[in-house]
Amino acid sequence: MSDAALLGRGVSPGGVCARLARLAPPPATSADDPVGEDVRTELARANQALDDVAALLEERAAKAEGVAAEVLVTTAAMAADPTLRDAVAEQLNQGRPTAHAVTLAVEGFCAQLRAIGGYLAERVTDLRDVAARAAALLLGVDMPGIPSPGHPIVLTAVDLAPADTATLPGSDVVALVTEQGGPTGHTAILAKSLGLPAIVACPAIASVPAGTWVLVDGSTGTVEVDPSREARARVHAVKRPEGEPGPGRTRDGSPVALLSNIGTTADASRAAASGTEGVGLFRTEFLFLDRRTAPTEAEQTETYASVLAGFGERPVVVRTLDAGSDKPLPFLPLGVEQNPALGVRGLRTSALHPDALETQLRALASAARDTGRPARVMAPMVATADEARRFVELAHAHGLAEAGVMIEVPAAALRAEEILRVVDFVSIGTNDLGQYVMAADRTSGALAELLDPWQPALLDLIALVGRAGALHSTPVGVCGEAAGDPLLAAVLVGLGATSLSMAPLSRAGVHAELAALSRPDCRAIADAALAGTGPADARARALGVRERVGG
Ligand code: PEP
Ligand code: MG
Repeated sequence: MSDAALLGRGVSPGGVCARLARLAPPPATSADDPVGEDVRTELARANQALDDVAALLEERAAKAEGVAAEVLVTTAAMAADPTLRDAVAEQLNQGRPTAHAVTLAVEGFCAQLRAIGGYLAERVTDLRDVAARAAALLLGVDMPGIPSPGHPIVLTAVDLAPADTATLPGSDVVALVTEQGGPTGHTAILAKSLGLPAIVACPAIASVPAGTWVLVDGSTGTVEVDPSREARARVHAVKRPEGEPGPGRTRDGSPVALLSNIGTTADASRAAASGTEGVGLFRTEFLFLDRRTAPTEAEQTETYASVLAGFGERPVVVRTLDAGSDKPLPFLPLGVEQNPALGVRGLRTSALHPDALETQLRALASAARDTGRPARVMAPMVATADEARRFVELAHAHGLAEAGVMIEVPAAALRAEEILRVVDFVSIGTNDLGQYVMAADRTSGALAELLDPWQPALLDLIALVGRAGALHSTPVGVCGEAAGDPLLAAVLVGLGATSLSMAPLSRAGVHAELAALSRPDCRAIADAALAGTGPADARARALGVRERVGG
């Protein structure tokens, strides 16, 4: 790494070298802009601009897939929303210039979304993106968004709106570096699903001029500015392994299933077509984020059956709806809470809406019966052994033979022995376990250091779960973002993880790392990490041992 290396949070692995390009900024609108001739004409112009933006987003949605497509459809619907147009008319009637009227109307909506909080508050970026695009059309300036200079670029921005992320496939962008954004946030998950190396929480990138050559390493979170010729050659030499790597195992032949995280049926088809060993986490709430009415049992049965059938004999772990907090489901009202991440979410919602859980379990059991494929089910946000037992009994009563829970609340990790006695398996959600053990909101870029999955306190909790798993001979999976970091994957195996579930993109790197290490190596690397005084120290100690032992 050169002296000019900038540090951020690597969230999607891979290395590339290209010129830096900045996302075109949203146009500034002002109350001092010239006011149009008459309100009717200006309203028609504003509505046309919003229509054009909605059409553009829909067009992009048609080309995108999975979560990206869903987010674009929602954003297009916001642009077409008649209440937004009423708000623009109100601003125009007060004598505001047209583009500024759109900005103010949208800001009013943003304030409402922020007050509601959670997932809706996160839609503020998308809504502002609608305003910026409409304003650009009205002012006749460049549409904000991704430049297309005709050569590969590393795209940088404060953070990315999903509308931008969705247009990345087929663009000139070969890597992403954002000033803000959390390691488990939206940009990170989407970049990974698109297979682009990405770094978030890298504020220093703001001072690098557009056009500068940069070398991005999404695995280490470093950006080398003006890299040497040798460094560039190094990156070109690092090729993603070709082909399917086969089942995960350590060098001494001990199997560690390498599974995929999916959230939509498009993800499922992609993963099923790859050589993945199965699905360790199917985030079912992603199927229904935009639904105003509850999905019926028949509809759910069909969806789950198509996913199960796609994976054949490979296991699929279906997570029951993780509604609430950053993922509210419009058809599952949970009331307004001061701290939704600490409130009614995940399994807790079943106290308010028992039918939703029952319906989902029945649908999954029917899908498993109809397809003759194994379905495993697990509940999110479980805090106590009692909750775990009740859920497992309910799932078994529905005919689902294998039922488990996620370990993502520190209390559940601390009492893992009790929990592992009553479940068929557990899966550690390091994203939430990290946020709760460090008391750090996982969507906050400013808290990225606390949210680092190398935090020794998080590793301590994982070790407790691993020990309990060995004691009860119960499988312990890990399905948070941590599982996709090759060196951390070795630590997790050393701490007792029996399977790792990750974005499909991460699998080859983790596979190669485990294949180079024996089980005792993984334990030694894990012990070194546990002795760390902080995340950087834990990583450095683990790397020290890794370099001594590994092939
Ligand atoms: C986690 O918390 O680590 C997890 C895998 O679940 P989600 O990211 O969906 O909350
Ligand atoms: Mg979670």
